[in-house]
Amino acid sequence: DYVPGGYHPAYLGETYKDGRYVLVRKLGWGHFSTVWLAKDIQENRHVAMKVVRSAKSYRETAIDEIKLLSKINHTDPQHPGHRHLIKLLDYFDHQGPNGTHICMVFEVLGENLLSLIRRYKHKGLPIKFVKQIAKQILLAADFLHRQCGIIHTDIKPENILLEIEDVEKLVKYLEDSQRERKLLRRVSSRLKESGGEGSSSSLDEDKRQIPFRKSRHSRRQTLVTGSQPLPSPLRSKSNSFFVSPLQSSISTFAGRTVGNIPIRSETSHQDLQFLLHKSFKESDPFSAEPPREDELEDDDLITVKIADLGNACWVHRHFTDDIQTRQYRAPEVILGANWGCSSDIWSVGCLLFELLTGDYLFDPTEGPTFSKNDDHLAQIIELVGPISRHVLEEGFNTKRYFHSDMKTLRQIKNLKPWPLESVLMEKYKLSETDSREISDFLGCMLITDPKFRMDAAGLSNHFWLNDCGSFGYIDREPGTRGEDVGAGWYREVRKHH
Ligand code: ADP
Ligand code: MG
Repeated sequence: DYVPGGYHPAYLGETYKDGRYVLVRKLGWGHFSTVWLAKDIQENRHVAMKVVRSAKSYRETAIDEIKLLSKINHTDPQHPGHRHLIKLLDYFDHQGPNGTHICMVFEVLGENLLSLIRRYKHKGLPIKFVKQIAKQILLAADFLHRQCGIIHTDIKPENILLEIEDVEKLVKYLEDSQRERKLLRRVSSRLKESGGEGSSSSLDEDKRQIPFRKSRHSRRQTLVTGSQPLPSPLRSKSNSFFVSPLQSSISTFAGRTVGNIPIRSETSHQDLQFLLHKSFKESDPFSAEPPREDELEDDDLITVKIADLGNACWVHRHFTDDIQTRQYRAPEVILGANWGCSSDIWSVGCLLFELLTGDYLFDPTEGPTFSKNDDHLAQIIELVGPISRHVLEEGFNTKRYFHSDMKTLRQIKNLKPWPLESVLMEKYKLSETDSREISDFLGCMLITDPKFRMDAAGLSNHFWLNDCGSFGYIDREPGTRGEDVGAGWYREVRKHH
């Protein structure tokens, strides 16, 4: 991907916009871009810089993204959702060996919600955090839909980022911990050279893998075997075999400290490995154990922002019908029916379930006799019941998946209904009250007819969110269905000039 038209081969210390911005470290990447922490020399602060791939289609997408972000910047800052959207600070072109890259400069935000889901080991975030995140995302979505006339179309954990309280303090912390990690890396690569297992993959921060996710939907799923680590040829042999080369490498570090613990020449191989592993984790500010439900204080507040407007569009102008990431895709989109703002709300429902449980709500797979879409539709019907007749009639692809009665799927028979409330209780062991309340709340977002799906502002006042802390208030009854957005709530309404 680092070829003409592809990513820009950025490097630490590289300068942009005539020396104004200097790259400090990589923050993340997506389909369109790489994202970097940079120092803004002019303003003497740190920023996040998104360097977009140079090919024409990516450039055009980036230009649309800039227009959408500018609309956000210029729309009512008094709306409580405004502060939960990422803010564009600057943008410009940058020439590189692979072409001209659009760069967008943003405020620095923290990790995305997927990495938070992983830190909670796919067992779900504390409900308190989920309520807070839900409220903020709904406020932001209302701001996008009703104030800006924008549909995000790609709401998912990767695109929701945690806010950082004090960016400059964090950068300082990262710099300090980086020094420590460099030493750890050197120690562990010495161990590797000497044949030990000191540099096992657990020390390699870039190779963390997505753990295998359990699914409700095991019935049709093709068997996926968990990736067991292959037995290492070294493991079966006695550790003592390696002692001498290891001891010699240990002695080169003797007298230094690893994570405040001194290394001595008599430190054993196993002790050193343990120390390395432990301090490597501890020196990584992002691998710390997050708080459990019962450890939360009353004033523990989490703040998030919706990012990545790279796939967003206007209520009055959709760029494509090929929208949303698979697991968060609404039924009207799968079926090729009309869609609008309310398709974002479906994704929010899927996202909140995932935050609560650590599992995808819908994770369709294809099999020998059915496609991903077949499986996806089956999973939707099993969870929320039959898909609205109206959507089926309108859907361009309905005939491909349904018999002409528009009731039964062609490829998948014997659906096993399992309503959300029972899933939460039986599979995730939530209390009866929590299961009922949550399925009431998510049920408002998982209405299969986009026209009748409830809107963000109304949902932000749902009783489940009553005790989530103060993130602002929109005066609107729960239960509204985008009435004041008009037809844009559920379909494209072209504006005629
Ligand atoms: P793409 O359009 O290529 O998907 P995104 O805008 O989603 O790009 O950014 C990709 C990743 O970079 C995000 O998932 C996030 O981890 C990181 N990132 C993006 N913007 C910021 C930011 N402002 N601060 C910190 N990290 C960011
Ligand atoms: Mg993204």
